[in-house]
Amino acid sequence: MTKRYLIKNARLINGFDDHPHEAMDLLIVDSTFEAVDRNITPPEGTEIVDVSGRTVLPGLFDCHAHLGWDNIQDVGTQSVEDSVAYGAIKSTLNMRRFLEAGVTTIRDLGVHWIGVEARNAVIDGITMGPRILAAGPPITTTGGHCWWCGTEVDGADGIRHTIRVMAKRGVDLVKVIATQAASGSKYYPGSASTSNPAYSWKEMRTLIDEAHNLGRKVTCHATTPEGAHQVVKAGIDCIEHGTDFTEKTMERMLEQGTFVVPTMSVGWMKAHFGHLHGFTDEELQPVRKRYADPEYNSGVRKAAAAGVNIAVGTDQGSPGTPPEALVTEMFLHLHYRIAANPMTVIQRATAQAAILCGVDHLVGRIMPGMLADFIVVSQDPLDDIENLRFPDAVYQAGKQVASKGHLLAETTFYPKAAVVLAK
Ligand SMILES: [Zn+2]
Repeated sequence: MTKRYLIKNARLINGFDDHPHEAMDLLIVDSTFEAVDRNITPPEGTEIVDVSGRTVLPGLFDCHAHLGWDNIQDVGTQSVEDSVAYGAIKSTLNMRRFLEAGVTTIRDLGVHWIGVEARNAVIDGITMGPRILAAGPPITTTGGHCWWCGTEVDGADGIRHTIRVMAKRGVDLVKVIATQAASGSKYYPGSASTSNPAYSWKEMRTLIDEAHNLGRKVTCHATTPEGAHQVVKAGIDCIEHGTDFTEKTMERMLEQGTFVVPTMSVGWMKAHFGHLHGFTDEELQPVRKRYADPEYNSGVRKAAAAGVNIAVGTDQGSPGTPPEALVTEMFLHLHYRIAANPMTVIQRATAQAAILCGVDHLVGRIMPGMLADFIVVSQDPLDDIENLRFPDAVYQAGKQVASKGHLLAETTFYPKAAVVLAK
């Protein structure tokens, strides 16, 4: 039976216009926005939900999540020591928390195959969860960063084979570790502090070409100018974390429409709450210093000012970075002047994020024909981005899934709408 309801008198932030629209009505038929306009006269039998004084905006995106991690322990340790079942339990809880936080779509960048399986479970109606674009295990050099949660592979032929296997197993995108990272985990190799690209030019080109060939976008962990230069030249779609970019790299990013997902909250949360997660003062000191500097992240700030595409993502799953950290991440875009105003950040967590994820034809904007993923908040997020924390109501494909920070009890979800996304 067709279900119709009208959200009435909304202050609407539609995800793409630079200003809100007052006194808007949204007619939702089953999973989809049928009409978005003023003074809609709904057909008889339509349920009316009056949201006067409240703001409606698209469901939020977290473009950098790791469902299989628990937001508490060191990521290397949990990746190696958790059983598959334990990782699955963590992902179930994270999916629930994402919905409660108003996050209706995520890009999972891999802890083994957990993100892919979580996506499948949502599609099959086994559990509730956000829409998931899953990268599967990150591809890394032997012993490279993320070897403990990824696939170690070397050489162009090996890489081509790996990409084909991943496509066969149904990844939505590919993530590659393009530079190494130094960190305190016992599972990080000692040689991890080089700024050089992790893969050779031939390896990286093969990886990106083969993934594109098979219709998958490629994103990468790249935290040095040298690494960023290589991957941009090789045609990467997105850079996670960010770094300083040379003028030449930035020009190319603008030309190619390359995205950056800065993931500032992971370090910010570590600086502020790392002691609760077992980090010592000695380990935390450099992080605290970096984040206390108002000029922090100047490379990404410069790129953003030049017009490079930016989307919001947290690195959820890392110690101190739970699904709710999305709003912290949005705050940090403003705090470090990566964004000029709250509307820009909201667009980066909705319509812009949808473009990055390749689902902008389905979600990310509130307009007729789009799937009805949206949230309702009681205070204006343009006054204070913190007003996005735990929305009054969260809807996914026209169905309310959470209310005031609590999931609504359901045993089955909406396999059909989710399948649209996963094909
Ligand atoms: Zn990550």
